[in-house]
Amino acid sequence: MSPPVGPKGPGRDDDAVVRLGLNESAYGPLPAVADVLRKVVSDTNRYPDFMPDDTRARIAQHLRLPAAQVTVGAGATGVALAVLQAALRRGAALGIDAPEMLTATPTFDGYPILAGMLGMRLEAVPLDDVGRVDLAAMRAAVTARTVAVVVCSPHNPTGSVVDESELHEFVRSLPAGVVVVFDEAYVEFSRHSPDLWRLIRTFDDLLVLRTFSKAYGLAALRVGYGVGGRQIVTEARRFELPFGVGSAAIAAVPVALSAEDELAQRVRSMRAERDRMADMLRAIGCPVLPSEGNFLFLPGVEGVAIGHLLRGCGVSTKECRGHGTRITVGDRSSTDYLVGSLRLTAQTA
Ligand code: PMP
Repeated sequence: MSPPVGPKGPGRDDDAVVRLGLNESAYGPLPAVADVLRKVVSDTNRYPDFMPDDTRARIAQHLRLPAAQVTVGAGATGVALAVLQAALRRGAALGIDAPEMLTATPTFDGYPILAGMLGMRLEAVPLDDVGRVDLAAMRAAVTARTVAVVVCSPHNPTGSVVDESELHEFVRSLPAGVVVVFDEAYVEFSRHSPDLWRLIRTFDDLLVLRTFSKAYGLAALRVGYGVGGRQIVTEARRFELPFGVGSAAIAAVPVALSAEDELAQRVRSMRAERDRMADMLRAIGCPVLPSEGNFLFLPGVEGVAIGHLLRGCGVSTKECRGHGTRITVGDRSSTDYLVGSLRLTAQTA
């Protein structure tokens, strides 16, 4: 089987033949987005909008919300940085001198990095034994110094989703003022997401994060957004960076949001490929957790060993510090290549 050759990228994926380590979309930009990006290139001597207000308004319209309930930043990561700074400011006003951020572990690498940048202590609570965020254990880990709690659903790296009523119960149980970051970077892929509008109507201190990096396939443009009640959004917006969202992103967002049918088609294809990849991996004896993201998680030492084998065959994957291996769902040829490589290794071992 000849390997599908993908574009080479930065960092750890440079030598990979098949790039499945960063939960990127298998598809390039939608054709209408590619057209608008070509036009932006001739204006790169000009600054983008001082603040991405038109982009906020367009996202708000898409979600049938007032623009005052939306904040935009450089990817979901940029929005997370802003809202965590807002949480720190709240903590400082309360005299909390050693502020803590509470997350699950393993989780998206960005959270430990942001905690380090902001000088927050990270309290990381292990997932349960089937890779779900353990909300009861997280609740038990809240202290008087907790200023922010992060819950991802679908969770990176396992793809598990939180139950809506358990999430509500959890957030309701938190001390007043603690900021909740509900990270839905992969929401478009999931069939079981909590109702966005009910969530932000019910909880004043909760911000939902979303991104154009995953389902929309615009990771290189660095644009994401946060949605919440007016107060938390106002606080997060104090940390929006002037000129922080580039012209390419500003041009692409409205076009991407209008291309709903194409997006839905791509999401359907990815889910079908995810199911096919999970079935094929299970058929050759690999442990695979159910996933609502655009990736699969192979838990435990066996998962880690499979990740090593795959990297030896030129497939970049993400090893989650001894917990297992996360593999992004790519296109049909990358699935065939990775499963074929594992079969071959098993035969020759
Ligand atoms: N949250 C989660 C759970 C993620 O997995 C990622 C990216 N891998 C992000 C946020 C950040 O995405 P963005 O590219 O929008 O910064």
